[in-house]
Amino acid sequence: MTETTPLVKVGLEIHRQLDTEHKLFCACPTQLAEGPPELRFFRRLRPTQSELGQIDQAALFEFHRGKGITYEADHPASCLVEMDEEPPGRLNPEAIEVCLTAALLTNAEPVDEIHVMRKIVIDGSNTTGFQRTSVVALNGLLTIDGKKIPIDQISLEEDAARKTTQTRDSAGYRIDRLGIPLIEVTTAPVLHSPSEVEKVALAIGNVLRATRKVKRGLGSVRQDLNVSIPEGALIEIKGVQELELIGKAVQLEVDRQSSLLRIRDELRRRGVQSSTISRNYTNLTAIFQKTKARVIREAISKGGSVLGMRLEHYGGLLGRELGVSNLRFGTELSGRATFWAGVGGIFHSDELPSYGITETEVSEVKEMLHLENDDAFVLVADNPERATDALNAVADRAAEALVGVPEETRNAMPDGSSRFIRPRPGAARMYPETDVPPVPVTGSIIARLRSTLPETPDELAERLGKQYSLNQKLSRQLVNSEYLSLFERTAKECSNIQPSYIATMLTETCKSLEREDFPIHEINDQKMGSIFQLVDDGRIAKEAMPDLLKWQAKNLGLDPSEGIKELGLKMMSSNELEAIINRHLEKNRKILEEKGSAAFPSLMGSIMSEVRGKTDPKLVTEMLKKKLNKAT
Ligand SMILES: [Zn+2]
Repeated sequence: MTETTPLVKVGLEIHRQLDTEHKLFCACPTQLAEGPPELRFFRRLRPTQSELGQIDQAALFEFHRGKGITYEADHPASCLVEMDEEPPGRLNPEAIEVCLTAALLTNAEPVDEIHVMRKIVIDGSNTTGFQRTSVVALNGLLTIDGKKIPIDQISLEEDAARKTTQTRDSAGYRIDRLGIPLIEVTTAPVLHSPSEVEKVALAIGNVLRATRKVKRGLGSVRQDLNVSIPEGALIEIKGVQELELIGKAVQLEVDRQSSLLRIRDELRRRGVQSSTISRNYTNLTAIFQKTKARVIREAISKGGSVLGMRLEHYGGLLGRELGVSNLRFGTELSGRATFWAGVGGIFHSDELPSYGITETEVSEVKEMLHLENDDAFVLVADNPERATDALNAVADRAAEALVGVPEETRNAMPDGSSRFIRPRPGAARMYPETDVPPVPVTGSIIARLRSTLPETPDELAERLGKQYSLNQKLSRQLVNSEYLSLFERTAKECSNIQPSYIATMLTETCKSLEREDFPIHEINDQKMGSIFQLVDDGRIAKEAMPDLLKWQAKNLGLDPSEGIKELGLKMMSSNELEAIINRHLEKNRKILEEKGSAAFPSLMGSIMSEVRGKTDPKLVTEMLKKKLNKAT
């Protein structure tokens, strides 16, 4: 992976949950439910005809696939509004003020009146079949490293329900997240390198945190990227969760588009035209009557068929990597087949023999399909209708490869690569929400917010340094950190521990524990706070805190005091400590006689290795010195 990017253009869309008291259109709190759901209800989404008129083909197709949705609900995390049994209330004024504050901090112009719109979303993630969204401000500008970055738009949206289950025919969503206010910040597509995109995302994150009203932790931030390269296409990558992954996601998308352009050139050299892509499929079921390939065997046993198609001159290209080893051109073909036909058993010649399909079966398929040297084939095992739809989708995608990169919406994967979700939706997908009255943005609201504007990230860093005697690096890290509010609260409440210790724990230590795969970010603020309190009260040693954090990250529902017991971190009494020191002195009597007080370092080392994390090292030093003075 290199940072040579052929004039890549990237726009960022950052979504972040607001930490308001109530949801956007009702009085429910903005905390997710824990434990099993209280009730379930089943819906099929039925948008009205006029609404359907504005849906693009792909969305309509998804809808007609007729998925049923099971929703899970809880009190107090949701009410009749989320269930779509009661109309929404007025826009939450607290959420509006957070967005206006972010607008002022990014020099954006608030709109005169906030209008709520409906954006059609019929994947089931919203009980209404649409998401409510409203523009709050336009035309902002952030200066980052001397470069002016236009902030096109700041919007206020409702978060969607969270998916809990997914099968071929149905999906399950929990509606506790539905309706949590989300701020959306959109930059112009003016970013030109992975590192620049990362820098801008960090800067926007800092501005949002400066409002002190955004949530942190898993799922509270989602970053979407719009990436295009010359001759490529505009690709929307959804849901990059971690800041650290943004640069990589951009680079991998550039690599993917460049690879697709090379495949296009190769196909053109081989003389492929869309008219040469055959849509005559051959029934190959007979070849697989005794197959060991599980997926195919199961499909046949359910009365399905194996259909195959020849892709003339595509040989060797289906296995071609698109920037990363687990994403190949063949993956793109099967992604399409899965979307349009919902099939699972799809195979191509560049990956066979494998998956239980033998060499002999492969040669028989080649013979049946009259394959030539530089040809490829694709097989699908499913009911004949579905298999035909799947191969049609493969043929469409294969034809698009001749043009280059098709416009798509893709899903970000944890490794930074992406997978096809659906074709890019058309633009006309919004219409007014008539249940919610518009909210005027008056001059007096703006004047009040302007006069109480929170510190900018730079001002904040300076104040933290002064107020808590932190060095510049540490205060910067805090500004960039999700734990800023927790830091200030803890520093105020825990007077026995140094702010620099709290800051180091919350930045460097937490980061290094995350790197060791302990999901520290999943520990909530209240638990983090009580762990610091334990240190402050002298109930555990400072040195023991990382171990307790690791334990807490793996036992999110338990109380930290149970971790102290389980890990044996309880501080020892001074009597216990004295007994241990005496034992070490006894054991080392000879060395002590020879060296006298010069034996201190080695004794201290061996005692500390026994008591580390259970007592304050200062106490050990004092007690040991006293005893050595007495003994010599
Ligand atoms: Zn509610």
